[in-house]
Amino acid sequence: MRVCVFGGASPTIGTDLMDFGRRTGRVFAAHGLGVVFGGGSRGMMGAVADGALATGGEVIGVIPRFLFDREPPHPGVTDMRVVGSMHERKQIMYALAHGFVAVAGGFGTMEEVMEVLTWRQLSLHQKPIIFLDAAGRWKPLEQLFDRMVQDRFLTAANRTIVRFASQPEQALELLREAGEAAEAPVDAGLAQLS
Ligand code: AMP
Repeated sequence: MRVCVFGGASPTIGTDLMDFGRRTGRVFAAHGLGVVFGGGSRGMMGAVADGALATGGEVIGVIPRFLFDREPPHPGVTDMRVVGSMHERKQIMYALAHGFVAVAGGFGTMEEVMEVLTWRQLSLHQKPIIFLDAAGRWKPLEQLFDRMVQDRFLTAANRTIVRFASQPEQALELLREAGEAAEAPVDAGLAQLS
């Protein structure tokens, strides 16, 4: 089973975040969960990959060549897929994973996780989507989603698509709970998006 982890690429984040990213990678790998990620060596995304690799986990990076200068590719991953565009990157990441976890990040992280969320809303896939942070960074987003339900922009049923976790063990549990959906890494709907 593999999880696609979205996370910030900024190399200047604090050590608390980097430690949490590495711990997340370690916990996932220790429980036999492979990691698919954007392939960068720095920031949260690099930290998750470092943690998983240090624990002997499978780590697949997917990175477009044009990003190499801005986001140097991780040198130690199990498998690095170099692709031609952001769209190809996302398509491959999504197809390889049984579920998605967003750790802390910036606009790029938001974009990626919101896209899989909207695709799930459109029933293009059934994979679990989890926001993970130990310090409540996603809390304002959780509140915004509740407000969207109150205002009837979002149905209560679709609000349940997205789950929040404060520890990697909890995220792991939520991924497992997702059950049947986790058995089918490539969804027909996602395959049609190429
Ligand atoms: P950030 O959270 O802004 O640090 O970005 C995290 C990752 O998201 C980086 O690897 C970015 O290259 C990636 N990213 C940014 N924008 C997009 C996008 N539109 N589609 C796919 N990935 C993106």
